[in-house]
Amino acid sequence: MHEYDLLVVGSANADLVIGLDRRPGPGETVLGSDLRVHPGGKGANQAAAAARLGARTTLLARVGDDAYGRMLAEAQRHAGAALAGLLVGPTDTPGTVGKDGIRTPGATGAPEAVEGKDAPTGVALITVDAAGDNSIVVSPGANARLTPDDVAAARALFQAAAVVSLQLEIPLETVAAAARAADEHGARLVLNPSPPARLPEDVLALCDPLVVNEHEARLLLEAQSLGDEPEEWATALLGLGPRSVVVTLGAEGALVAGPGVGAEVTDGVGMVRVPSPRVRAVDTTGAGDAFTGALGWRLGRGTDLEEAVRYAVRVGSFAVTRAGAQESYPTAADVAKDTG
Ligand code: ADP
Repeated sequence: MHEYDLLVVGSANADLVIGLDRRPGPGETVLGSDLRVHPGGKGANQAAAAARLGARTTLLARVGDDAYGRMLAEAQRHAGAALAGLLVGPTDTPGTVGKDGIRTPGATGAPEAVEGKDAPTGVALITVDAAGDNSIVVSPGANARLTPDDVAAARALFQAAAVVSLQLEIPLETVAAAARAADEHGARLVLNPSPPARLPEDVLALCDPLVVNEHEARLLLEAQSLGDEPEEWATALLGLGPRSVVVTLGAEGALVAGPGVGAEVTDGVGMVRVPSPRVRAVDTTGAGDAFTGALGWRLGRGTDLEEAVRYAVRVGSFAVTRAGAQESYPTAADVAKDTG
């Protein structure tokens, strides 16, 4: 049995959130609510979501040696995630020589800081409008310093994980290194290409599933003229090479496509729409991350893809009923009570 159901490799950000009636246009100023600061970042959100549900999980990420970094570490601990993968502070990979010739001590797992060499913790500036829809600007900070060397140094975490989950708020070369490390150690790969970017073919081919929302699906398929049917997008996405595909559809739930999914299978591949419970959406921030964290956890526990998506849809729909990202995530008991 693996030590971790899920290893999340990705970003950790402080979410700085302002509510407003409507977003400003170019050159316009609008007044918003008081500022709220929350732990966020797609990687940290996924790990927190999974941990809160009961997953044995850890986050391989980099934060600055600052107040936001400490807030993020505390949020992971509070959710129940192991802190083994969280790297704090220096931009140099532990165990390597930096530009200034200073050698940093080499131990992944033990957060360490080197004075004066920090990139700040990543920050996301988020506005949420009256309809509950959000717009986000990300300053990657320390996330941009998570390197393929960090992945190599975290070999033991990959060995210990049943599933590895990736998103694209860290350097693409690090994403590729993590995908390949997952493959090397026999871990199943879940990948959410957000923010969207072109991925190496061998990385796409490892995704099982590739998880996209409508926006990401359309961007990945921009070269193809597509209609409005998610089934069509899923077929086209499968054509890019992943082993399976999940398209999240907001209030409509999700579509899952891949080998052995559903009853009607063509050429070994089937599709199923998973409807969402009807809820009153308050704040959709981090709903997709809750979905993907829950999905990764269920897959790590050996649940099949369709069942895992059914569970993840319930988790995602719960997350939109409360404000914030990580604070909005349910426990397994919440999910059972709410929709069971
Ligand atoms: P993202 O948050 O990445 O844009 P989606 O909007 O597709 O992704 O939402 C991800 C998941 O969150 C959905 O599959 C669903 O489970 C849940 N969700 C999002 N919006 C709503 C909503 N308005 N009502 C119910 N569930 C929602």
